[in-house]
Amino acid sequence: MSDEKNLPDAELARLMQDISPAAARQLDAGLHAFASTWLFNGNFMRCRACGLSQMASQGARPFNHLEDCTSASTAAPYPWRELANQLQSLATVVR
Ligand SMILES: [Zn+2]
Repeated sequence: MSDEKNLPDAELARLMQDISPAAARQLDAGLHAFASTWLFNGNFMRCRACGLSQMASQGARPFNHLEDCTSASTAAPYPWRELANQLQSLATVVR
């Protein structure tokens, strides 16, 4: 059972008032798309296509893919920054 099911309707409505249905869909779709390219594992971000990874502390640097990586041209060049942006939207929903 999720915690959401334990919340009174009024409380759930209050929590969700800061995000529109369109923004909620964008958040879900954005996180889904992110996870299709990147595997977040603790302090490492790994490219699902080439398998190279980057530590969180290196997140200000562009991600280096293998030369023949099929995601290199389409993936976010700074995946940690991308995840941080996604989580800012998530913070609005879960606070
Ligand atoms: Zn790659």
